[in-house]
Amino acid sequence: MSLNEELKNILTDTERFLKQQQELYGDTIFVSKNEPLSAGSRQLPASAHTASAVPEIDLFGQDAQPTVSYHKTGEPIVPAFPNESWTNTKSLEELNTAINTCMKCGLGKTRIKFVFGVGNPKADVVVVGEAPGADEDEKGEPFVGRAGQLLNKILEAVQFKREEVFICNILKCRPPNNRDPQTEEIDCCEPYLWKQLEIIKPKMILCVGRIAGQSLLKTNSSLTLLRGKVHDYRGIPLMVTYHPAALLRNPNWKRPCWEDMQQFRKLYDEMKNNEK
Ligand code: URA
Repeated sequence: MSLNEELKNILTDTERFLKQQQELYGDTIFVSKNEPLSAGSRQLPASAHTASAVPEIDLFGQDAQPTVSYHKTGEPIVPAFPNESWTNTKSLEELNTAINTCMKCGLGKTRIKFVFGVGNPKADVVVVGEAPGADEDEKGEPFVGRAGQLLNKILEAVQFKREEVFICNILKCRPPNNRDPQTEEIDCCEPYLWKQLEIIKPKMILCVGRIAGQSLLKTNSSLTLLRGKVHDYRGIPLMVTYHPAALLRNPNWKRPCWEDMQQFRKLYDEMKNNEK
């Protein structure tokens, strides 16, 4: 092998490694115990950079727990809907019609189709991804590409059919070149998800991917910390697992994803049994 080829291989391996690290931990690289190196806008606060050799305790320091604020009564504070007419809709079709021409953020100008979500309007389980990709933008349906096919298999592995659940994303429009969603875009779009949940009334939410988990739970916690726990999102139990696109890049994560799904299914069955 020539030196050039060797260098090319090293670069490819390094890129793959960094991508996997980013999927798990975000845009922070720990170059030494006390010297984090951040890239892009998703910078963690200085207080959050205490690298630990014991990830179970707290890899990212003080900021590792989801941010939930509470009223004095102990009830979690649930952010209020904006004062806009679509908030009065009563069904998913009505809501879709009211919001699918949205131009609140710049993605309105670049999208092909608004990707509202698909599935059972009375689903017990809502799956939330990050944002539509190219295939989804073209079709107007979430998770239709290769990642979508794997998502279907992940659901089937724990006896959920795609048609039985409701699948959507935090962002309803595709970010150009599949870049990460920006905070302002999430702020504009997230209330649409609140309304979808209010109409569907699911028993559980499955968040796929670090970015979806971090965005909904308003935290910088790594995927490693977000997995394996039951969080609360506007009163609904929420669990986080790997994004299917990440599993396509790293099949070693299929096993831990399967374990997450077993846990998800177990909790779901317990909740259903308690209803009887
Ligand atoms: N990735 C997502 O997060 N959502 C989709 O709809 C497709 C790919």
